[in-house]
Amino acid sequence: SSPGNNKGYEYSRAANPTRTALEKSFASIENGTHGFAFSSGLAAIDCVLRTLNPGDEVIAGDDLYGGTYRMFTKLFQKYGLKFSYVDMNSASNVAEVITDDTKLIWIETPTNPLMKIADIEEITTSVKRANSAILVAVDNTFATPYLQRPLDLGADIVMHSATKYLGGHSDLVMGALMVKDEELAKELHFIQFAAGAVAGPMDAFLALRGIKTLHIRMQRHCENGKAIAKFLDSHPKVKEVFYPGLENHTNHEVAKKQMSAFGGMVSFKLKDESKQATFTFLESTNVFTLAESLGGVESLVNHPATMTHASIPETERLKIGITDALIRLSVGIEDVNDLIEDINQALNK
Ligand code: PLP
Repeated sequence: SSPGNNKGYEYSRAANPTRTALEKSFASIENGTHGFAFSSGLAAIDCVLRTLNPGDEVIAGDDLYGGTYRMFTKLFQKYGLKFSYVDMNSASNVAEVITDDTKLIWIETPTNPLMKIADIEEITTSVKRANSAILVAVDNTFATPYLQRPLDLGADIVMHSATKYLGGHSDLVMGALMVKDEELAKELHFIQFAAGAVAGPMDAFLALRGIKTLHIRMQRHCENGKAIAKFLDSHPKVKEVFYPGLENHTNHEVAKKQMSAFGGMVSFKLKDESKQATFTFLESTNVFTLAESLGGVESLVNHPATMTHASIPETERLKIGITDALIRLSVGIEDVNDLIEDINQALNK
């Protein structure tokens, strides 16, 4: 209306109407007050880390998406941030390593790819008791707000690779942050604007369309995921299944408490842990496509050691159990009988 006086949209990096619609949706589905859309999930994580200063410390889970680990160790460590990694199976492991420099707790639950479960409420309560200024962030990519809402459990920041379930159709790359604190929202918006890794409006349109079916897709992902986890768990050629919905999962009770169902991600190892047997399975599925990414309507199979988690040094991978025998499934929304038949024939190759 006048120089220096705009109507809310002066330049699309600062704000764009389609992105605003998506950011409102992001905030709403996680019970937050503010949402932010980024050009990728990693750009969203990058934004959170830019709130820190050299010398600050981040405590993170020991099983993380490989790209998150790569960003922590290869990018931010050289700017003076410190990282420590703990097994978040037990909430007390986090409180034990808090120091005066700790500023951020980074939780992934369920984790990629070992499906470990961290008790968000218990960790948040113990961290805030130690120092209420420490921020707790949760990567909620695997669960989605349909199954788990970290802000309601006391977390300060929720992060998503919206590339996955929120988009839902493997046709965009996007990240999301959701918060419920005005000051934190201002800081994140400033970094989003100043660093510039914003989501484009066409991608925002696709993500909005994806979110409209999130609840229906998640229902089917959960049904299919559970059926496949059970099938694998009782199969004579399978050694171990990692799925929080199975009663034999280490933190099944915590998962039951904080999630309304258990999602579509299932990892497992064959009894024959040789590379050859594992690769034969990975090369033999027909309905499951061998590919990275996850959370789309189509089923995918992935080999973390050589694909999604190849950036984690072998010694670190092996320490936590990401061996060459680990297989990760992103169970889609196809007919479950087709999926089970496909897995069965690949197991019998
Ligand atoms: N967090 C998790 C749990 C992921 O699985 C991924 C990607 O696979 C990311 C973060 C990074 O997201 P993006 O690939 O959208 O940058």
